[in-house]
Formats: sequence, C-alpha cells, structure tokens
Amino acid sequence: MKPLVILIVTLLLYAMYIGIQLFIMHHPADSQRLKTAQNDIPAATVQRADNLWAYLINADNPLSRDFTVGLEEVQAGFRMDERCAGYARKMIEDAAAEGIELTVVSAYRSVQKQQENLESYTQRLIRDGYSSKDAKVMAEKEIMLPYTSEHNAGLALDILTPDWWLTHDDVTADFENTEQFRWLSENAHKYGFILRYPKEYEHVTGIIYEPWHYRFVGIYYAGKIRESGLPLEYFYKTNF
Ligand SMILES: [Zn+2]
Repeated sequence: MKPLVILIVTLLLYAMYIGIQLFIMHHPADSQRLKTAQNDIPAATVQRADNLWAYLINADNPLSRDFTVGLEEVQAGFRMDERCAGYARKMIEDAAAEGIELTVVSAYRSVQKQQENLESYTQRLIRDGYSSKDAKVMAEKEIMLPYTSEHNAGLALDILTPDWWLTHDDVTADFENTEQFRWLSENAHKYGFILRYPKEYEHVTGIIYEPWHYRFVGIYYAGKIRESGLPLEYFYKTNF
C-alpha cells in the first residue's frame, strides 16, 4: 500500500512540474520581462507611495463613487485638480520660454464624459459591423471605464505638438519623436509629472505605451519614479 501512495504522489509532483514548465515555455517573454523588472528595482527607492498624490487609479483601483475634485484651468479650457494645475502651468510656461510649445489635448474628464466616450466608441464599432458584445469588449480595451481613468481624477494631462492634427488623425506613439517629448522626458519630473505608461511595462500597467500621457504624482515621487525607470505600480509592490 505505502509504495503505491509514494508512486502516486511522485507522479502528481512530476505532473505539476511538467505543467509549470509548459506554462513558463508558453509565457517566456512575460516571465522574462517580469524577472528583469523585479531585479531592476533599486531597493532604496522602492517604497510604499503613501503621500497625497502617488496613488493608483486603474481598472483594479477605481476612484470612489463619491469622488469630487476642485478644478482649475491649465490651458485653453483644459482643467486639472486645482492643487496641481499650477505645476502644469509652470511646466508649460518654462517649456515655452525654451521655445517648446506643449499643447494640452486632454486633461480632466468627468465620469459622465468618460461614459459618453465609451458609449459613442462602442456605437461606432457596432456601425463598423461588430456585434454589440464584441464592440463592448473592444471599446473597453481602448477607453477606460468611468472611475478608472486618471483623467477622471484631474491628475493627468495628454500633451501633443501644436500642429499634431495637421499630420495625424489619431494620437500615436510617434509623439516620442518630437522635441516636446524630448523636453518632457528631461523635465516633466521637475514639475511633479511622470510618463505614466512607459514602453516596456505594458504588461504591468495594462495600458499601451502612451508617450503623450503625463500623471501628476508630486515632485518627490516623480523624481524617484523617473530615476528608477519603473512604472508607478512598482511603488506599490512592497509593504502591501
Ligand atoms: Zn491620457
């Protein structure tokens, strides 16, 4: 009886081992990237982001239903949380003084506007011939659900070049080839902003690379995050 039990346990363990190996084989890129990302974390800089600004807003961490925010204009009618709008205005001013014109194309969006955007995009996909079920799934991949966008909190800015729409009909990663992007990469952190959805970390943020999207986290965390090269999510890895 006993050798039989040992044999069964051995076989089960072996099957588990094969299963894990198969899983790793089929997800090589992700597991490799995650490993690299974790090894890259400089221990001294990664800490719980428990200040006023550096909190996560995403699909798993929506804003509360009773969320409200005081707003202030940043540029051309686009508004942000009144507590960080001044930092954004200063950033835009200082860039302009160096001959770099940063054009805000989106800032605060109400939850209601977020819902409308999602619905109108879903309708467009249905008109393009997708079933309503498929259209909904596709739209939710492109446009975040209400309460889950940093724009709903008034803490995000989308920035492009002044002549962007003359040469593009969509917001694309091409923006990384502009002098505006180069300036922001060098300077945004000095005003408390981070590039929120970096290239190599789409598997962590769940959002495509968005060189135009800047998130206010405060000057302290913006500096730390830029220095680490890691997305905001990693600042929540420890202590939780
Ligand atoms: Zn954005």
